[in-house]
Amino acid sequence: MARFVFITGGVVSSLGKGIASASLGALLQARGYKVRLRKLDPYLNVDPGTMSPYQHGEVYVTDDGAETDLDLGHYERFTGVAAAKLDNWTTGRIYSDVIAAERRGDYLGGTVQVIPHITDKIKEVIQAETDNYDFVLVEIGGTVGDIESLPFLEAIRQLANELGPQRGLFMHLTLVPYIPSAGELKTKPTQHSVKELLGLGIQPQILLCRCDRPIPENERRKIALFCNVRPESVIPALDASSIYEVPLKYHEEGLDQEVLRHFGLSAYGEPNMARWERIVHAFKQPEGEVTIAVVGKYTNLLDAYKSLAEALAHGGIAHNVKVNLDWVDSQIFENDGEAVARLEKVNGILVPGGFGERGAEGKIEAVRFARERKIPFFGICFGMQMAVIEAARNLLDIKGASSTEFGPCSEPVVGLLTEWLRGNEVERRNLSGDLGGTMRLGAYPAKLAEGSLVRAVYDDKGTIEERHRHRYEVNVAYKDRLEDAGLRFSGMSPDGVLPEIVEYPDHPWFIGVQYHPELKSKPFQPHPLFAGFVGAAVKQARLV
Ligand code: GLN
Repeated sequence: MARFVFITGGVVSSLGKGIASASLGALLQARGYKVRLRKLDPYLNVDPGTMSPYQHGEVYVTDDGAETDLDLGHYERFTGVAAAKLDNWTTGRIYSDVIAAERRGDYLGGTVQVIPHITDKIKEVIQAETDNYDFVLVEIGGTVGDIESLPFLEAIRQLANELGPQRGLFMHLTLVPYIPSAGELKTKPTQHSVKELLGLGIQPQILLCRCDRPIPENERRKIALFCNVRPESVIPALDASSIYEVPLKYHEEGLDQEVLRHFGLSAYGEPNMARWERIVHAFKQPEGEVTIAVVGKYTNLLDAYKSLAEALAHGGIAHNVKVNLDWVDSQIFENDGEAVARLEKVNGILVPGGFGERGAEGKIEAVRFARERKIPFFGICFGMQMAVIEAARNLLDIKGASSTEFGPCSEPVVGLLTEWLRGNEVERRNLSGDLGGTMRLGAYPAKLAEGSLVRAVYDDKGTIEERHRHRYEVNVAYKDRLEDAGLRFSGMSPDGVLPEIVEYPDHPWFIGVQYHPELKSKPFQPHPLFAGFVGAAVKQARLV
């Protein structure tokens, strides 16, 4: 039966609870345990799919088509375990399920209340499909003390009590700030945060203390004393040079040993950390570097491109090079000459996913620059759509070529998809439908053309499966004309209706994909497209 580790955060947000949870997952896995990670988010949106990237950062998409919190991306990158719809719950989703049940009459005669109905639902979703795992790590979003997270905290209090200490553990992440004027580390915020938890009936057994410098033994003992934990369970969580160093650091500080000790499992021997040592080595001792321009819209909010930045770093690991990212706001290319100045020195150009018209013309300019100058180019989702529009305008001379996403147009090279196949089922949408959860979402197969670059990139696989998140599609009606002009449609949906991949055979490396390969890349298993793209940048930089 699965053991549950509940991970809460205190003092301030953005302490890296997601990375902490993912790292503990990686450590337990390195000791041979089977892990699953989950996140409970206190906000009212049913999922983050309709939220602005400025509010929420990236929306991470699972194989089963859920739009989830970006922490699920960290979980997958650290453990390799594919996340699923069941692994991310928001207050909004919990309430809408409970209210739907109430409308059906499931609680007939009863008054439906936060306790027990909402808390029971939370306990149910935490435990759903966990039988085959040794450990389930449950991260509670938000900061202890927020009104919104109270039902979640009450539910995990109850659940831990029902499971007993052999099957439940509370881990709390706090901040130990250094006050320069006093020249001291302060433990008081941690003490207060634990008091807040105690007031809710939760005694954490392990404290992970974020700090920018080593925590002296004295402070560690003080925290232990005031917070009712063993001194060994006060784990310093110091800043790391790369997120992939965190599992190694936590292990050095004894996190996995403490977790196993709590559950009465012997922590003999060492976990197998070879994978993490290799990754950290690659980061710390690169043999060269390349620069990739990422031409997008949300370039001042890097959380919006979390998986993308990680996948590019993974591509660097594959070639032992450091990948510098030059984030470029595409709108600057709408002024003449800017593209040349900014893009001339880079070794690769990437146009990532995006929504809406703003900045689109600049992205099209960046595509043209990459195509004409033969600079390695990678277009992802919106980036592929812009590459196809660029080809239609500049190679076929179709001046009005555009996407219906930007309004009605005479040459819809990219158009709204209202009907498509998922396996044998037809999915249907229309213009006036809901926005939430209605894009083409999740894993879909694509067939790769023989002899194409992309087929070689994927190790000669004939069919691949990648994750999608988009409402518009490249219009197959333009395929023949574009192919005659030199743009090869090298990946198509199995029914041949939806273009999935385009490439220029006469270009060193130019690939556009309708899906999001960055979501499946891992540091220990760089995605072949990112490895291929960075490899092409290495060649462009004449490092080989
Ligand atoms: N806005 C485009 C669409 O909906 C592309 C989406 C994306 O890049 N994820 O089709």
